[in-house]
Amino acid sequence: MNERMQSRATLERELQSALTNQEFELYYQPIVGLKENKITSFEALLRWRHPTRGMISPAEFIPIAEETGFIVPLGEWVLRQACTEAASWPEEISVAVNVSSVQLTSSNLANTVIGAIASAGLQGDRLIIEVTESVFLENTAANLGSLKCLHELGVRFAMDDFGTGYSSLGYLLSFPFSKIKIDRSFISDLADKMESRAVVRAVVDLARSLKMQVVAEGVETNAQLEQLRRLGCGEMQGYLFSPARPAAEIDRLLAPQHKQLVKLPVSPSQPLAVARHSKAAARRRV
Ligand code: C2E
Ligand code: MG
Ligand code: MG
Repeated sequence: MNERMQSRATLERELQSALTNQEFELYYQPIVGLKENKITSFEALLRWRHPTRGMISPAEFIPIAEETGFIVPLGEWVLRQACTEAASWPEEISVAVNVSSVQLTSSNLANTVIGAIASAGLQGDRLIIEVTESVFLENTAANLGSLKCLHELGVRFAMDDFGTGYSSLGYLLSFPFSKIKIDRSFISDLADKMESRAVVRAVVDLARSLKMQVVAEGVETNAQLEQLRRLGCGEMQGYLFSPARPAAEIDRLLAPQHKQLVKLPVSPSQPLAVARHSKAAARRRV
């Protein structure tokens, strides 16, 4: 117990310097629309590249950051970094950022978000804020109300890990959510457990009535994907498509669908023809 307490105290101390030493990095995991078979957004997932311990999982350090209040400056860095990086992506691709309930209790989150989108030059509707139910348990109506102004700027909200906590349906009605993310625990045994399929089907139906989208988290197999399609789930996220990857790999992940989106010809001679055509068009405009 002593050892555990010491290692926690060390981690707590090191967290403070990690931000100034630029040891944090955002990885991005694609979220894929099942109808269009295209990436619609990326979820920003925080990584800590520790100088001696290597990559540390957020599951290990986020709870400490929340307890110490360090999540406030760290969360602000995440929001600013994610918005800045997303501003360079194609316009139809959004970014989802996880926000802890502590950020809402102990800071003016709405101002932080407005600052982040403004300085990045990102359209508000390209940002999705992911919150878990703890936001409702630990915040006052006034705190939550302050977030609603972001909704007017087009910022969207997703209910993360749905199904794990109290899953009060009242929360879904009391806040303008655009998405419900079904927790991985319901997806893992989707192919062989009738009960999990019943839960997913119920959430899909509920979301449809409430005009919300549904994202299935932690999709790892084709059998799960098949079931999700059959149940009418709109989007998926999971290792089956891709784990979270560094920002530098976003272009590579988007490349195949981009070719489709702008209907680029596959033959190597044709892109040149497109370029010549646009140059000629530009000359005509002059
Ligand atoms: P989350 O928001 O529910 O994120 C999804 C987690 O599931 C990520 O873990 C992701 O890597 C993992 N995952 C995705 N697909 C699969 C799959 O097919 N199979 C399995 N087994 N796992 C999958 P990660 O990156 O370790 O993050 C864990 C949690 O840490 C996140 O859960 C989120 O609650 C928290 N977190 C991460 N980044 C941030 C952040 O910037 N701010 C805050 N407040 N929390 C964060
Ligand atoms: Mg999330
Ligand atoms: Mg989740």
